[in-house]
Amino acid sequence: MTHPAVQLDDVVKSFGPVTAVAGVDLAIADGEFFSMLGPSGSGKTTVLRMIAGFEQPTSGRVLLDDRDVTGVPPFARDVNTVFQDYALFPHMDVRANVEYGLRVKRVGRAERRERATAALETVRLGGYADRRPTQLSGGQRQRVALARALVNRPKVLLLDEPLGALDLKLRREMQLELKQIQRDVGITFVFVTHDQEEALTMSDRIAVFNDGRIEQVDTPARLYEAPATAFVAGFVGTSNLLRGSDARAVFGRDGTFSIRPEKIHLDDDAEPTKARGTVRAVVYLGSVNHYLVDLDGGGTLTVLRQNLRDSTDSALDQEGRRVALSWDDAHVIDLDDSGAGQ
Ligand code: ATP
Repeated sequence: MTHPAVQLDDVVKSFGPVTAVAGVDLAIADGEFFSMLGPSGSGKTTVLRMIAGFEQPTSGRVLLDDRDVTGVPPFARDVNTVFQDYALFPHMDVRANVEYGLRVKRVGRAERRERATAALETVRLGGYADRRPTQLSGGQRQRVALARALVNRPKVLLLDEPLGALDLKLRREMQLELKQIQRDVGITFVFVTHDQEEALTMSDRIAVFNDGRIEQVDTPARLYEAPATAFVAGFVGTSNLLRGSDARAVFGRDGTFSIRPEKIHLDDDAEPTKARGTVRAVVYLGSVNHYLVDLDGGGTLTVLRQNLRDSTDSALDQEGRRVALSWDDAHVIDLDDSGAGQ
């Protein structure tokens, strides 16, 4: 990457005895939709707040556009943050909310109006300028918050779980819209989420956080197809790990192996096979079924099958049924091989 929009060099952040961020290196490209994904408490928000300037690193450097901004206050950085709780002013209409930042910067009335109108159109709220926030749905309020940040034309937009307060259906719609808006405006987005599906849907690249560190930075497809660690394999998708004696029974050697549920074929017990087992449970999910299969040599694998409702499928649906599992060896992920596995 020749010219990163955001760069972190060995950044550490401690709060008293708590190490929130334990040494993070990161380079986010100009124009990238970049997500920070990880469980609660893994340090994502703290990293975002250090990029914004709300927190200062205990050690290490933060660079924006190749300029060292460590120690520079938030208002002097070319970034804007969108929070989950929107923080809209309830007594102002939508236009006044969006114009607020420009008013503070003493931008003239005509330009304020023009830029607010353009920002509201970008988030597809062109007809809502005169409404109060209370007269909007959750998704519309979130878009006002986005317009309020975009109107400042920051180099980098930081988003801290911005869709967290929305119901699932609206959240899925907004994910696609947010991605489209990012493409339209071309601004670098740095997005914090603990929802792996959300990160996979929107991101060019994702950093997976665990316990104050980054386990892997990669494209959604690479994180899923080639996870570097058992943690990543389990946090992005179903890990289906086999290790110790379970691994020996299936692969004939020690190690930590992962094989994704949709890469496994389930057949009648008589078919040629990699492993045999017994169906412990069948989880019906509409378009697909999940089969939990206890392997004869120990260990359990989840197998995903399209729910085609033909005779073969329903025959396998019975719990306690003996089955044969097979897969292409190319789909077995050897987590010890990757250099970062355990
Ligand atoms: P979440 O998804 O729940 O927001 P996160 O991955 O964003 O989690 P952080 O909010 O960055 O995690 O917190 C990382 C760790 O640092 C946690 O253990 C948290 O309790 C701690 N922490 C964060 N901010 C402070 C603070 N101001 N004072 C003390 N500890 C803090």
